[in-house]
Amino acid sequence: MTQQIVPQPGILEIAPYKGGADKVEGVADVVKLSSNENPFGPSPAAVKAAQEACVTAHRYPPGDHIELRRAIADKFGLEADRIICGAGSDEIISFLCQTYAGPGDEVLYSEHGFAMYKISALAAGATPVAAPERNRTSDVDALLAAVTDRTRILFVADPNNPTGTMVGGQGLRRLAESLPGHVLLVIDGAYAEFVDGFDGGAGLVDQFDNVVMTRTFSKLYGLGGLRVGWGYGPAHVIDALNRVRGPFNVSQVQIKAAVAALDDDDHTAFSLSENTRLRAWLAAELDKLGVPSDSSFGNFILARFADAEEAQACNAALQAAGLIVRGVAGYGLPECLRITIGDEAACQRVVAAVAAFKDGSA
Ligand SMILES: *Cc1c(COP(=O)(O)O)cnc(C)c1O
Repeated sequence: MTQQIVPQPGILEIAPYKGGADKVEGVADVVKLSSNENPFGPSPAAVKAAQEACVTAHRYPPGDHIELRRAIADKFGLEADRIICGAGSDEIISFLCQTYAGPGDEVLYSEHGFAMYKISALAAGATPVAAPERNRTSDVDALLAAVTDRTRILFVADPNNPTGTMVGGQGLRRLAESLPGHVLLVIDGAYAEFVDGFDGGAGLVDQFDNVVMTRTFSKLYGLGGLRVGWGYGPAHVIDALNRVRGPFNVSQVQIKAAVAALDDDDHTAFSLSENTRLRAWLAAELDKLGVPSDSSFGNFILARFADAEEAQACNAALQAAGLIVRGVAGYGLPECLRITIGDEAACQRVVAAVAAFKDGSA
């Protein structure tokens, strides 16, 4: 009998997501450097706030997230009314596709763009379209050239994951100015806080009717496991997204933890300065070993090997040494490994393991 219960078109084209592993069989001292998590964990104040919020877990959370929206607005100089909160920025990306793209529409992103754009586009029944990059960097001209009458959304992560490279403020501005009005430009600022002086695209949101920014508490703020993200956009976009959003999509535990995390400037400053220092050190040491990487603006580097085979072999050697990094063949970068910047000890272990691999002693 033929199966009569069938998913909507596009759904079965979504490859099941494979997250970073966190164990290696037979290795005790494992460090996970595969998901761009904060190696120093969440702010202790955020942990305390989450614990306290658990006491009232029998109560539904406020559906308007106003406490968190105000805290975000104060911190980044934005308008609370034009902020929407989600279960990670992944959920905001999903709301955007659901709201603005459907069958027959195209969702555009760049060649090595973040995986959720394609997944959410397919889930909405839309057609994902990838534009070529130049030197592992989103190419403004190629993106503009790929726009058609059917394009509804253009996603650009700046900095991008897994490449770590940036279009930068001027390139983003050129995109915003050149895109036709029927295309929504979504600037994904998951790593915006790591870039000194970068507003993540907030200024463009204030200026254009078709620009949205997404942000997250998962990377710098160390709350990936709690799932808190947000978006900032023109009033008409936020209004539409809020109609799609379930009223209780973010729990009070998430809200309280995120508010406390935003307030812990010491933890944030420490995390940032260690990332900057260790990212430069790790990149330079690997470069000396014949493993170059593009200048990264995030909390990870994309290490480049001679070819896919060498990248795979080094990945295996790192694993055997208890270091879990991320293969990115699925992003069209089989010769690369993405390595999250860990604490100093973790970075030293990575360098030692790559050195041993390169000289054949691993
Ligand atoms: C990690 C990441 C996100 C999503 O993170 P959430 O945990 O869902 O907030 C979004 N975009 C990019 C580019 C990322 O790397």
